[in-house]
Amino acid sequence: MKTEVVVIGAGVAGIMTAWHLAKKGIPVVVCEKGRVAGEQSSRNWGYIRKQGRDPREIPAIIESLRIWENIEKDIEEDIGWHQGGSLYLAETEADLAYYENWLGHARPFQLDSRILTSEEVDDHIGGEGRQWKGALYTPSDGRAEPGKAVPAIARAVERLGGTVLTECAVRTVERASGKVSGVVTEKGEIACQAVVCAGGAWSSLFSGNLGFGFPQLKVRSSVLRTTPAPLVSQSNVSSAGASFRRRQDGGYSIGRSGSGFFDIVPDAFRYFGTYMPALKTQPMRLRLNGQFFKELAWPKRWGPDDVTPFEKTRVNDPDPDMATVRDILATAKRKFPQLGDIEIAEAWSGMIDVTPDVVPVWSGVDGLDGYYIATGFSGHGFGMGAGTGLIMSELVTNGTAPVDLTPFRLSRFSDGSSTEIYAKSTYNDWPQPEAA
Ligand SMILES: Cc1cc2nc3c(=O)[nH]c(=O)nc-3n(C[C@H](O)[C@H](O)[C@H](O)COP(=O)(O)OP(=O)(O)OC[C@H]3O[C@@H](n4cnc5c(N)ncnc54)[C@H](O)[C@@H]3O)c2cc1C
Repeated sequence: MKTEVVVIGAGVAGIMTAWHLAKKGIPVVVCEKGRVAGEQSSRNWGYIRKQGRDPREIPAIIESLRIWENIEKDIEEDIGWHQGGSLYLAETEADLAYYENWLGHARPFQLDSRILTSEEVDDHIGGEGRQWKGALYTPSDGRAEPGKAVPAIARAVERLGGTVLTECAVRTVERASGKVSGVVTEKGEIACQAVVCAGGAWSSLFSGNLGFGFPQLKVRSSVLRTTPAPLVSQSNVSSAGASFRRRQDGGYSIGRSGSGFFDIVPDAFRYFGTYMPALKTQPMRLRLNGQFFKELAWPKRWGPDDVTPFEKTRVNDPDPDMATVRDILATAKRKFPQLGDIEIAEAWSGMIDVTPDVVPVWSGVDGLDGYYIATGFSGHGFGMGAGTGLIMSELVTNGTAPVDLTPFRLSRFSDGSSTEIYAKSTYNDWPQPEAA
């Protein structure tokens, strides 16, 4: 098989990259070890937001929102897009001060974000008693249904002439004279001129085999969806302890910021020092379990004929932490009685991949022409997916991007740069239950 660009991974980053390339008429093949959007990209809350972003990401998320706004028209499919805004509730004066501070960072970008008063919050979410000190609100933010969006865009890629192969893990990249010349998949070789690694939490393991590993760890986060409930708000509503967004099926997806578990794995020791600044701002529940030994057994180097860890885990589908899920539901009911008598209809969890500075990698690599990496979205890459596709398609075809990629270059982890972290969310201090 022969193409121009191979994209590794059919999550939002890979599929959006393929879509933008296919729209330019560039031959593209996406190789996915499991199913389209089987991992993070179907398990997330569905927020598509500029609000609260690390200021370095704001130019890219502005581009991303522009694309999401028109995507249903472009692909002629429903993905559950709704521009209902983001609403971050402030329980304390400290929360409000944090949001005011973020507004200061956002001001140069002329976003429509603003602070709502306590009365305006009650009007917005139908509460009573002025429970909230106020809120940060961005009306132009939106949401989509994660389970629908990426498969729909994958179909659009195929209508444009691109190919999406599932159950087709890429094992390694072939090179000739310092340039990409193809990939070897479990089903055979594909000759190509460029490879975009959009492998989510697997990206560092894959790139490490080529000599381009980088710090990337995983946090397991649990979410629930409810039975149908009254419409309280069309916004993505966040508060300490419980955050919710309206679903197309009439229920809500509910989660909690900062409630993830960090399964201790060998890479945690390897990268411990690199993640120290992030750990100071984002407290984490640690757990030692079988994942440590599973990852200890993973090879660091392999050849094109070896069966790889990618084929051995088709879809990473970790169990939800039901103690946390029940606690999130109880908190949501207590804080938002207007949601009514909601019950858990389903719970799941996903492995969020995190970089030391909590922003992504959109980059080529020094030493292998034609190899690019788009990963490390650190828990907020669904909304950024559309922008990622634009950025990577431009990088691959023209060598430039519509935004400054300096903060997102791969070499920041090895060129002696200090790790810059945008301040933590005040919501992360919420007390967590013991795991079940
Ligand atoms: C619980 C939860 C809530 C979240 N909430 C939000 C939110 O509200 N808003 C937001 O913007 N973001 C959110 N996120 C984050 C967002 O889901 C991710 O940042 C985003 O989906 C990452 O997309 P991706 O394409 O990089 O990775 P993934 O979706 O994980 O896709 C990577 C794909 O690559 C495949 N792959 C890996 N290696 C290989 C290989 N060698 N060969 C072939 N295929 C391979 C994998 O099987 C996988 O399908 C949340 C995440 C979680 C888990």
